[in-house]
Amino acid sequence: MGALRTNTYFCFDDSGHCVVIDPGMDGEGIYEKLKQKNLAPQYIFLTHGHFDHSQGVKLLAEKTGAKVCIHAEDAVMLENPAFNSANFYYRGDFSFYPRTRADILLSEGSLLSVGSMNFSVLHTPGHTPGSVCFRSEEMLFCGDTLFSYGYGRYDLWGGDRERLADSIRRLSEISKELKICPGHGNTASFSRIRPLLPQYLAELQNQ
Ligand SMILES: [Zn+2]
Ligand SMILES: [Zn+2]
Repeated sequence: MGALRTNTYFCFDDSGHCVVIDPGMDGEGIYEKLKQKNLAPQYIFLTHGHFDHSQGVKLLAEKTGAKVCIHAEDAVMLENPAFNSANFYYRGDFSFYPRTRADILLSEGSLLSVGSMNFSVLHTPGHTPGSVCFRSEEMLFCGDTLFSYGYGRYDLWGGDRERLADSIRRLSEISKELKICPGHGNTASFSRIRPLLPQYLAELQNQ
């Protein structure tokens, strides 16, 4: 979705329970797609607060009543676009930015159950202070921490190279085969991504 081609994920079960992960920049477009699929989300999960993942939150939450969940350290990014890199797009004039607030603040180990779906929260800072991965039985929604082609940048507000290295190391210790669902680009199997992680770590440690 949007100018930065951010991935939005709909997770739903057979009884219609639904979560939207990272609604991107176009809340209206997401709402229409959900309606086409007859889905009404109970929650909006955010992997982090950057505008290209969260700009659509306000509209989508107002239209659906879904509860907005973000890590405590990124919550300020929903409230104040000066922290969420929206200047890429708004060129310093944030008067039209759809500011909003979190309903539920996440932290390491938070457990989220939605219908028959269960997610656990891994706090993986570095790209932003409150970046998280949502782990389900078979998938890892990892936002901009890890992509199928590399790792996230750490030069924006709150970014931290050493914290990102620690987060990548932590992900490398997950032995289970999961589908990697990143914030941009293609999904990938963890078996393909995992062997690349030592190289990413070396790069991050040598910069
Ligand atoms: Zn980001
Ligand atoms: Zn992004």
